[in-house]
Amino acid sequence: MSVHMWYCENCEAETGHEVREQAHHDPTIRALTAPPMDERFAEASECTCTVCGQVAWVDASDVLKLGVHDFGD
Ligand SMILES: [Zn+2]
Repeated sequence: MSVHMWYCENCEAETGHEVREQAHHDPTIRALTAPPMDERFAEASECTCTVCGQVAWVDASDVLKLGVHDFGD
């Protein structure tokens, strides 16, 4: 699993989030919960705040873009 900085609505701050994918073959990367029953989340990845445990379902490419931005500076 990998940790990315992401905005946590509960902490109201940018915090580390563990990103897990739905139905991934590797149990350490596979999502621990199911996404909301909505087609918008069909391809979403589970983003768990390492501070408070809040779970967000986001497009993984959005998370990775933030990672690229961090390395770009
Ligand atoms: Zn949080």
